[in-house]
Amino acid sequence: MKVLVFLEHHEGELVKGSLGVLSKAASLGADVAGVAAGSGVRDLAGGAGEFGAGRVYVADDPRLEAPLPQPRVDVLAPLVRDGGFDAVLFGQSVLAADVAAGLAARLEAGLNWDLVDVRVDDGKLVGTRPALADSVMVEVGWRSQPALALFRTGSFEPAAPGGGEAEVEDLSVELEDFSTQAAMVEQAHEERSGPSIEDADVIVAGGRGLGAPEQFGVLEELAKALGGAVAATRAVVDAGWYPYAAQVGQTGRTVSPKLYIACGISGAIQHKVGMQGSGTVVAINKDPNAPIFEFSDLGVVGDLHEIVPKLTELVRSRKS
Ligand SMILES: Cc1cc2nc3c(=O)[nH]c(=O)nc-3n(C[C@H](O)[C@H](O)[C@H](O)COP(=O)(O)OP(=O)(O)OC[C@H]3O[C@@H](n4cnc5c(N)ncnc54)[C@H](O)[C@@H]3O)c2cc1C
Repeated sequence: MKVLVFLEHHEGELVKGSLGVLSKAASLGADVAGVAAGSGVRDLAGGAGEFGAGRVYVADDPRLEAPLPQPRVDVLAPLVRDGGFDAVLFGQSVLAADVAAGLAARLEAGLNWDLVDVRVDDGKLVGTRPALADSVMVEVGWRSQPALALFRTGSFEPAAPGGGEAEVEDLSVELEDFSTQAAMVEQAHEERSGPSIEDADVIVAGGRGLGAPEQFGVLEELAKALGGAVAATRAVVDAGWYPYAAQVGQTGRTVSPKLYIACGISGAIQHKVGMQGSGTVVAINKDPNAPIFEFSDLGVVGDLHEIVPKLTELVRSRKS
């Protein structure tokens, strides 16, 4: 089986989501290649070998500098068509979703999205995706070739078994007239001092139990001490206590840090589905019957306003 993985990059680095999908593809025993499109991306392509790509196709062209989907579809469509790929896999992002949809239309190929896993069964790909408000998992297949798949953020951890440098092959870039009609007017980046919730190894998450928006400062202090990021429940982002970008759950982000510290969070199913891939879950809640304790590795029954500052102090003193 020949699999192509769309390698997204940001600020000179391949993004974690793409590398996770690449590692998963390699674990299927497939012949895995990557494709990177952008301006000045040639140097980062070889590094994908470490995560399982035997070859990386590179479209390095100034016209691909802006993260716009249609020029990337122009790059991918002939590569997939002529390269005989059975599947093209994408890690979820705004750009990747647009490229995947555009490629599906261009190739008249089926796209399964929101997948959280994939396996090979009898030589065919079988995807897994949550359904019915994430309460059940269903298996999905493809009736067309190639099979296109978009995976939820955080579905797979990048694994670097040490495959060495990938072979890099340059692609010639030919853009359709209609693909160059959109222009990027402005790009803005959220100011952030620590890692994003998708990339963080440690997440300190806050819920309504914080009591007031300014109490998020207490969680930010703990996250800073641990080198992590702050996340939130929908209840608090809906209340305007914290930005939507930090929401974890069914209608927010899916995260899989090594450590997830849930503070004042009840543990609703819609929150759980976004963080259940976390390594170790620690919950701090004053209600001993809170559902979060049912899926926590360590539960602390108590007032987070007393516990969290002490924890921060402890982390800081251990570090120094
Ligand atoms: C279609 C749909 C989609 C949804 N999507 C999402 C989603 O993506 N993400 C999400 O998070 N939710 C989502 N929700 C909402 C979800 O159902 C819950 O309402 C929400 O997660 C609850 O947030 P919470 O835990 O912050 O608040 P609450 O449920 O109110 O829990 C607050 C907790 O804080 C504890 N507490 C109070 N004071 C303290 C204290 N001083 N110290 C320690 N603990 C304290 C309480 O015991 C309680 O357990 C969705 C709902 C629907 C219907």
